Amino acid sequence: MIILIKNGEIYAPKYLGKKDIILENNKIAGIYENVKISPDMLNFFDVKVINAEGKIIVPGFIDPHVHINGGGGEGSFRTRTPEINISELLSNGITTVVGCLGTDGFCRDGKELFAKAKALDEEGMTTYINTGSYQIPVKTITDSITNDIMLIDKVIGVGEIALSDHRSSQASYFEFKSIVAEAKNAGLLSGKGGITNVHLGDGKRPLHYLFKVLEETEISAKYMIPTHINRNEETFKRSIEYAKVGGNLDITTSNDPEHVLKGERRASDALKDLLDAGVPIERIQFSSDAQGSLPVFNDLGKVIGIGIGSASSLYREVRHAILEHKISIEDAISVVTANTAEHYRMLKKGKLETGNDADIVVIDTKDLNICHVIAKGRVAVFDQKQLIKGTFEK
Ligand code: ZN
Repeated sequence: MIILIKNGEIYAPKYLGKKDIILENNKIAGIYENVKISPDMLNFFDVKVINAEGKIIVPGFIDPHVHINGGGGEGSFRTRTPEINISELLSNGITTVVGCLGTDGFCRDGKELFAKAKALDEEGMTTYINTGSYQIPVKTITDSITNDIMLIDKVIGVGEIALSDHRSSQASYFEFKSIVAEAKNAGLLSGKGGITNVHLGDGKRPLHYLFKVLEETEISAKYMIPTHINRNEETFKRSIEYAKVGGNLDITTSNDPEHVLKGERRASDALKDLLDAGVPIERIQFSSDAQGSLPVFNDLGKVIGIGIGSASSLYREVRHAILEHKISIEDAISVVTANTAEHYRMLKKGKLETGNDADIVVIDTKDLNICHVIAKGRVAVFDQKQLIKGTFEK
């Protein structure tokens, strides 16, 4: 099928003006001025025309940190969170996801994560996974990190490896350094990112090991992406220094904007503060941490239970950054598209360019709400109606 999206304002995420996009067989076939179709053509070809007048067209969003097969469990077994459904991702514009394991890398493992990623893929979106979890030594699917990254298409890196957290393995710097080196080299040999995704906890030594790697090895900062950098003041400050020596930063969007903890920043505020501190926009990405467990607060700010990180927070924070902080659409969209694709070496993702994958989000110009979503060349959401659903979703 050919899809023609007409008259939208295109943010690729760089602004290209009002143009038409043609999608064919899961690829962007081209971006043109005012494409005209003769009625004859419609008799011979299966063409769907979408009128995007008054709308913004952007690349499909990439969420690089989602517990797709569930997470949590820190409050005993009943606090294990459920798997994600594809509609929760697609309805929020997420067309590419990187699945990972967190605290529980024991009852959940890489094979289960791989199976869930394959399921989402079959249902209609692009998926990748990291090997490992919080723990060091890393529990792999095959016999090594290298073999996981080199031999399993879906595996693009390692993580989330926990540092500066009471739930981490309290491993040595030497062990951490070896993981980063192995992932990087396997990435080089297989044409993948080979990134180590580093979970930063509330401990007193955020990014300590990352800076040590930069001081004592030849490995560049881009191979370690710290996440949850907006969780407290000290971590945030050190992360700014890390970006200034070439590191890329991952801001977590899943916190409760009504009950932001002391020192914590909601993601859109963190984005503004990073830009104000002189961090180049290219170094910044968002991830939702969806299906991770989250504390729930009452009106007095007391913890009354455990909730779940949500995929809806990813675009919620992008929208908030544009509307409230007046960050440009180009910059705000880049933290969930082009920047993320660049950081993880996803070559056909994150930009609206001829030959790239046909992952597209159409947004209403007036209220910036998502109208349509196209994933792998199929219309997944149209006029906010979910067309692609999970196998067991009603
Ligand atoms: Zn984490």
